[in-house]
Amino acid sequence: MNEARSMEGDGDTIHRPGPAPGTDPPLDFIRTIVAADRAAGKHDGRVGTRFPPEPNGFLHVGHAKSIVLNFGVAAENGGTCNLRYDDTNPAKEETLYVESIAADVRWLGYHWEGPRKFASDYFDRLYEFAETLIRRGRAYVDSLSAEEVRATRGTLETPGTESPYRNRTVEENLDLFRRMRAGEFPDGTHVLRARIDMSSGNLNLRDPTLYRIRRLRHHRTGDDWCIYPMYDFAHALSDSIEGITHSLCTLEFEDHRPLYDWCVAESRAEFVPRQIEFSRLNVSYTVLSKRRLLRLVSEGHVSGWDDPRMPTIAGLRRRGVPPAAIRTFCERVGVAKRDSTVDIALLEHAVREELNRTSPRLMGVLDPVRLVVENYPENAEDTLDAVNNPEDPAAGARQVPFSRELLIERADFMEDPPRKFYRLSPGREVRLRYAYLVTCTGFTKDADGRVQEVRCRLDPESRGGDAPDGRRVRATLHWVSARHAVPATVRLYDRLFRVEHPGRDGDFLKDLNPDSMRVNSDARIEPSVRDLSPGDRIQLERLGYFVADSGDHQPESPVLNRTVSLRDTWARIAKRVGAPASGRHRAGARNRRR
Ligand code: ATP
Ligand code: MG
Repeated sequence: MNEARSMEGDGDTIHRPGPAPGTDPPLDFIRTIVAADRAAGKHDGRVGTRFPPEPNGFLHVGHAKSIVLNFGVAAENGGTCNLRYDDTNPAKEETLYVESIAADVRWLGYHWEGPRKFASDYFDRLYEFAETLIRRGRAYVDSLSAEEVRATRGTLETPGTESPYRNRTVEENLDLFRRMRAGEFPDGTHVLRARIDMSSGNLNLRDPTLYRIRRLRHHRTGDDWCIYPMYDFAHALSDSIEGITHSLCTLEFEDHRPLYDWCVAESRAEFVPRQIEFSRLNVSYTVLSKRRLLRLVSEGHVSGWDDPRMPTIAGLRRRGVPPAAIRTFCERVGVAKRDSTVDIALLEHAVREELNRTSPRLMGVLDPVRLVVENYPENAEDTLDAVNNPEDPAAGARQVPFSRELLIERADFMEDPPRKFYRLSPGREVRLRYAYLVTCTGFTKDADGRVQEVRCRLDPESRGGDAPDGRRVRATLHWVSARHAVPATVRLYDRLFRVEHPGRDGDFLKDLNPDSMRVNSDARIEPSVRDLSPGDRIQLERLGYFVADSGDHQPESPVLNRTVSLRDTWARIAKRVGAPASGRHRAGARNRRR
């Protein structure tokens, strides 16, 4: 399953390959824990996980790692995975995000257990747990200001100071908390705090806030509540309520685990879940923080959350990335305990692998120059068989029209070629893919010295692309018939950031790549481009993988987004460090050179 897992390192980009294909990789540390728990009969061998997004932004590829892990661990163990929104902060949450998150999880190929769940479903029960804490002397209403609470928390070196309100009686606390809920106090006047230990070495245990007063409309509970629970309390108890056996989260929550356990134990919650932390996914040349992604959107650096340059699931989808490639990528990255940055080339590699297997080939020319076939009659035309996908015989063949006037890529002709340029030049013979061998007989230039037209003669014996005498040519060019080709808009994307670690030396916006999108309106594509529907993925031979844009594509005026070029930087990196590049991929490369 995993070819290159545990890409952990010391914060720099990782290129380390995994075990050779065919060897069974060891279970990661989380799967090892789960297997041991099942073997020991814990929770009667049942496994329940959850994916717990906060609905305050779109999901990104980092979330995908968490999704693949949570749903994967559940599925592998015959268990269940819930989708639970952590909607405890009404200030930043929106219904738009709730819907996009569900759509993205589904698109990635996962099915959550039962209906979608929300922490807000449990507001009543959470409130009851809070009263239990108060009754047990484990929580108190504090009337210090937020500022004072902060000032008395202490530092890593010095203990905090106990609040003068810490020793209120149970009765007084219950009364005040109920009145907080009833809306008797203005925002910020009181909070409910856990009564743990103001001198704890772990700052999270210094009487953390459990509830605060906020008069905000909640997207689901409306104005029912004016007090809202804090994340740590709500999350731990929501896990318990749902019977989550393994609560998988990212490393920044490691120091919160004692509080997580405390909340469950001291609230006398019946079910005791276990929190396990793993490292966040970081990817080079991009940012994966909702705060930063929101800035890119709201300040107009991209066209929206689904801009094809965004590392969001919606962006990757619009870019043409197949969900299977994202799953494969996340599995290969694996789970580990140390934070690291994964090379974006590893994601691109998974994308190419998947698309090489699955996308039909078409021919299209991005920067056309006319190629006139002198010995082909003016008004004749012909159709040639072209293979749809050399990787997939079942994909069959299609008909490509041929005529006297063709278009080829401007860069495929040189008047005066340097050594190792094997494409078209005066006197040189090349293959036109699926068509004929042609020999260049001349060319014309316009007043500016730009090549206007290239001329050639075809070998009629070579129809289909092979000479009967078996003579070889060194280059195969893609082409379209000028009169049949469909004009198209093609968007060529590059990385959104110019540097490997955006924001490492200051403002991340300064690292934006000014050339991350080029729009080409000169492209001409073979007629079968008309059969594409928005979201369909293809390979344009020699140019890369493209998707018909989900917003703007129309059969008569195609709009194609380039997902990735064919050049595989990961394969080169893998070669350098001695990792096996998969056989499938080498086949793709061979294909390209022909
Ligand atoms: P961000 O930092 O991007 O705002 P977040 O952690 O606040 O993300 P949540 O909606 O709270 O976003 O995340 C939902 C789940 O996804 C959490 O369990 C979180 O740990 C996990 N997650 C978020 N980002 C990553 C990441 N980069 N790699 C792995 N898991 C992640
Ligand atoms: Mg969060």
